Amino acid sequence: MCDINQSDCCGNGCANCILDSKPLSTKRVDFVNKINILHTYRKYKLIKRIQPNNQPHLVQLKFAIADDKKQLTEFILDCPPGHHLMMRAPLLADVENIDNKTVLRPYSPFWTDITEFEFEIMVNLKPNGKMTKYIEKLKVNDEVEFRGPIGVFVYEPSFKVEKALFIFCQGVAIAPTIPIIENIIENEDDICRIYHYSCFENIDNIIFRQKLLEFNKFWNFSSKIFLSHQKCTECGNDCSVDCDNFKRQLKYKEQIKLQRLDKDTISTLLEEIKIETKQFVICGSNSFQNFITEYLRNCNVNKNCLYVL
Ligand SMILES: Cc1cc2nc3c(=O)[nH]c(=O)nc-3n(C[C@H](O)[C@H](O)[C@H](O)COP(=O)(O)OP(=O)(O)OC[C@H]3O[C@@H](n4cnc5c(N)ncnc54)[C@H](O)[C@@H]3O)c2cc1C
Repeated sequence: MCDINQSDCCGNGCANCILDSKPLSTKRVDFVNKINILHTYRKYKLIKRIQPNNQPHLVQLKFAIADDKKQLTEFILDCPPGHHLMMRAPLLADVENIDNKTVLRPYSPFWTDITEFEFEIMVNLKPNGKMTKYIEKLKVNDEVEFRGPIGVFVYEPSFKVEKALFIFCQGVAIAPTIPIIENIIENEDDICRIYHYSCFENIDNIIFRQKLLEFNKFWNFSSKIFLSHQKCTECGNDCSVDCDNFKRQLKYKEQIKLQRLDKDTISTLLEEIKIETKQFVICGSNSFQNFITEYLRNCNVNKNCLYVL
């Protein structure tokens, strides 16, 4: 087990603060006697850095434990779906803050390898962001610290009673929803249906579009994407669903709506699904989280069924 103190908090007011997060034993049945290596800060080496096409503000980073894996036989790397990690990096000299020598920021792995001690994150680089400045300079073979897992999301598979999992996410916050989906669709006995609603600015900004298309092939997954500012690449005006140029960009069975996800739309989406047992996951900026949470609470959704990641 590890100690957590005030200096472990990133100070950004996360819905699930590291200070409230108790490091629990792993729930993975094959690994009950193993220690989760994430419970204390360790160094991880950057082993791959990818710049997704057309999205210069995004960077996909793959890390592996820096220690010799042969010495880690009693450990695993367990970041449960919907949980995140805290990254700790040196504060670069050109950042104006002389009090703190390090910068802490949470990131949500969208892929992990439990026994190889590897994980991947997708980072949305923010202009002049403190961690962004560090990540921009981070090269393959550089080492940086992580610890975790942080979060409260709990998912119980449904074997007898039909269940609906509604996921509302925005931008890069789609990342933690990927392992949640994979965990469900990979369990053939789980009869939970997933309704995934993701929001982006325009079609070029969609993150994990290919993954969503692959998930769409599963009987229990359905996805709708909402674009708030789609401009036609031919005429430059706001795009409409009737625009032939827009239609040409859609993939097979892809449902993309050219509108913001507003209250009326959420209400219609919820009414469409007649399944009684419902669970909700919300992930995005503070304003997005507050908007969706408030609306669902006004619809009398039980707070125990509602998870803000
Ligand atoms: C649970 C959780 C999971 C997350 N997972 C991910 C993830 O998987 N991927 C991801 O990309 N992000 C994720 N984030 C967000 C991430 O932690 C960082 O907030 C993000 O990377 C920006 O950090 P930064 O240090 O680069 O920017 P910051 O220094 O925090 O600044 C952010 C922006 O605000 C501006 N700014 C800062 N201070 C001021 C000010 N006083 N006035 C005006 N503007 C200001 C900066 O210029 C910058 O553009 C997650 C956040 C949470 C809470």
